[in-house]
Amino acid sequence: MDDDAVLSKIANSVIMTMHQIPQINQLPIDELHDIKLGFLRRDASRLHAVCRYRKGVVKSEISGPSDVRCVDVHPVSLQEEWRLYAAFLLYHEFLHALGFAGHDRTFRTLEALWPNTTATKMGKAFGEHLRRNRAKWLWTCPQCSKEHPRNRKGNGRYRCRECHVVLIDVSVES
Ligand SMILES: [Zn+2]
Ligand SMILES: [Zn+2]
Repeated sequence: MDDDAVLSKIANSVIMTMHQIPQINQLPIDELHDIKLGFLRRDASRLHAVCRYRKGVVKSEISGPSDVRCVDVHPVSLQEEWRLYAAFLLYHEFLHALGFAGHDRTFRTLEALWPNTTATKMGKAFGEHLRRNRAKWLWTCPQCSKEHPRNRKGNGRYRCRECHVVLIDVSVES
């Protein structure tokens, strides 16, 4: 299965799950099927997914999925071990598509209704995974061995937060 097929399969299961969440199932969830799905650039490192609205759409006046141009997710999230997180990313963006534009309290309450609580906590680890994938250097504590993936050398300027020992630069073998 290619990436597009995997993504739309995950999206279908997300939409099915959304139908079973009483707090949202009166919303036009089936229209989410019409949203064009795509991918962020593979080297995106801060953004994990995005809901892009059509030109001219005012965020406070979103009427529903028809105002959405596309939803893009990070291609790395389709790797087997991150697929639960990909589903949660789609759920998050689909809430935006349903008209919940910002990350206010209402949004966070709805977001927390996602039944897979493992997935809801994977964001930090995924960000770490992306950074590690791209890093050229690991700033490493010689005492506790904790590694901080970075693109540049630390050049002895940083210390381990726990041990207060100067971090050493270890090159990532490619
Ligand atoms: Zn968001
Ligand atoms: Zn340390």
